[in-house]
Amino acid sequence: MPHAVTVVPPPLQLPGGVLVHCVPAHEDNLIWLIELPSGEAAVVDGPDAEATLHLCAARGLRLTTVLNTHTHGDHVGVNRDLQRRGLLSGLRVVGPKGAADAVPGLTEPVEEGDEITLNGASRLKVWLTEGHMNGHVSFITTGAVFCGDTLFAGGCGYLFDGPPAKMLESLNRLAALPQDTLVFCAHEYTLDNLRFAAWVEPDNLDLRDRLEFTTRLRAEGRCTVPSTIGLERATNPFLRAHSPSLQARLREELPEAPLHDALAVFTAARALKNTARHRAH
Ligand SMILES: [Zn+2]
Repeated sequence: MPHAVTVVPPPLQLPGGVLVHCVPAHEDNLIWLIELPSGEAAVVDGPDAEATLHLCAARGLRLTTVLNTHTHGDHVGVNRDLQRRGLLSGLRVVGPKGAADAVPGLTEPVEEGDEITLNGASRLKVWLTEGHMNGHVSFITTGAVFCGDTLFAGGCGYLFDGPPAKMLESLNRLAALPQDTLVFCAHEYTLDNLRFAAWVEPDNLDLRDRLEFTTRLRAEGRCTVPSTIGLERATNPFLRAHSPSLQARLREELPEAPLHDALAVFTAARALKNTARHRAH
C-alpha cells in the first residue's frame, strides 16, 4: 500500500540553521530527520530505517543519533532495523527511561526535565507526556516540538495506557507552548481527525477552514504536518473542552457520559472518537 503522503515536502528550517526533513514510512508514519549544520543528523522515531538512510546518503549526512518518543514497534522499529544492518552500535540512542528495556541500543535514558544537546547546535528539553503509552516523552526545542503519538494534528493518540487524566495533562502542557511552535507528530492522521473534529464542533469556523484546506492537501497526496500549537488550540477538539457546541454534541451522542469538568469532556470526546461514528457522517 502506498504511503498516505506521496508528495514529500521540502525541509523546514528551525532557528540555528537546523533543518527538519519529513520522511514518510510504512502507510502513514512520519519520520522526522533533524539535519544539523555540521552535516550530522538525528532521526526521531520510525518503523524502519530504509528511507532515512536513503535521505542521509542523498544529502551526504552522517546519522549519529536516534531519538525515541516511545516504544511502540512503529517508533523503535528504526532502532531494530539499524541493528539488523549493523549500524546501531556507535549511535547515540536517546529514549524514555520509563521504558528503557524496550528501546533497542539505548545509550541515554531520559526523563522529565532532562535536556539534551545535538552536537552543540540544538538543545532539546524532555517532557514526560504520558497517556498514549507509559514513559512517552516529547522533545521540545525553540520553535518546535516532537511529540510522537501524544498530540496529533487535529487529534490525539489512542489511550493505550491512559488514564485520560494523564493524556489531558500532557496535551494541556503542550498546548501552553508558544502559539507558533511547530507540532511534529508521528502520523499523517489529520484528515480523519478533522472530520471527527468538525462533526463534534460544527460551529467552529476555523475548523471548517482547516478541514477544507486539509482535504485539498490530502487529495494532492501532500503532508499536513507540522501544524502549530495555535492552530491546534483553535481546532483540536481534545484541547477544546470549553466549547459549548462540542459539549452539546457529546450530550447528544453519549447521553450517559458525565460532562461536569474538562477531564470528563475530554474523556467523552476520546470515547466518541473511538466509536468511529463520525465516519458515517
Ligand atoms: Zn504509539
